[in-house]
Amino acid sequence: MATVQKSLLSSVAKEKTYTPKNKVTIVGVGQVGMACAVSVLLKELPDVLALVDILEDKLEGEKLDLQHGSLFLKTPTIVANKDYSVTADSKLVVVTGGVRQQEGESRLNLVQRNVNVFKFIIPQVVKNSPDATILVVSNPVGSGTNLDSARFRYLIGQKLDINTSSCHGYVLGEHGDSSVPIWSGVNVGGVPLQSLNPDIGTDKDSENWKQVHKDVVASAYDVIRLKGYTNWAIGMSVADLAESILKNLSRVHPVSTMVKGFYGIENEVFLSLPCVLNAQGLVQVVNQKLTNDEKAQLQKSAETLWSIQKDLKDL
Ligand code: NAD
Repeated sequence: MATVQKSLLSSVAKEKTYTPKNKVTIVGVGQVGMACAVSVLLKELPDVLALVDILEDKLEGEKLDLQHGSLFLKTPTIVANKDYSVTADSKLVVVTGGVRQQEGESRLNLVQRNVNVFKFIIPQVVKNSPDATILVVSNPVGSGTNLDSARFRYLIGQKLDINTSSCHGYVLGEHGDSSVPIWSGVNVGGVPLQSLNPDIGTDKDSENWKQVHKDVVASAYDVIRLKGYTNWAIGMSVADLAESILKNLSRVHPVSTMVKGFYGIENEVFLSLPCVLNAQGLVQVVNQKLTNDEKAQLQKSAETLWSIQKDLKDL
């Protein structure tokens, strides 16, 4: 007897195998990985979502839980496996695998442990999707200062009672304690705040805008102290980067790139500068005009990273 499927459906076209067009892989299905997964799914970005982790039960559980939401999604295929063949033909691979900060621990402290994890993950990603853009979220480099800048804009908005999206400004440099707020570029409605308060961001500033950046730096530590990890804001910010890449938007985001030669930086370190992201990945760097003080802070941020990086084993 014919199966229900055969009785119900008559084929009108020759069956072809489907080649994914906007496949997204997420490596690491911890708190951050799953926040990234949900954020890209709700933005309806991937046609196929692949998940990878070394913990097989957790991986299977997370996959099933997402698949059960199929009715509410526009991603018909969600797959998961610890074998990287499941990631083949990805356009974008988001790497969140590895260890996270403990309470009070700096991001830079994670570096050697995550380098070892990366040496395992990255070759397998590249082998299966040689043309994919790889977006590293695991610390210390992380997805750059995209999240720091989002926090900066939110906190400026809170101080002015203006929506975050209308408060423009960048935090550049290290995604972490030595990040650099670019006060010279902060503007609302095209009005540079420095033109209204020349001391903005300095110790002389009676309005204490400097505290806004201090709060940005403290953000992750505060959230980790309160709930043990950060995940929602990083997940949403990753989905924003993913959108620029998958939809070829050529939008500018502060993400990490090799900065040797920029602003007098002499070592091969990766720091965040405003970069153009599109379907080819990171394609251009915006040459922001920085003040001498901002340049000096970026150089210091580069030195901080280099002092850690130069001692890494087996890089
Ligand atoms: P988590 O411990 O919840 O999850 C990490 C996951 O990685 C686990 O499921 C673990 O099994 C998996 N994993 C470990 N080794 C692996 C390997 N070799 N291959 C595949 N998977 C592997 O941690 P989390 O809270 O999700 O954080 C993940 C990373 O993201 C950390 O490095 C954290 O510091 C970083 N992070 C970055 C930002 C940012 O702004 N860039 C924000 C928050 C967290």
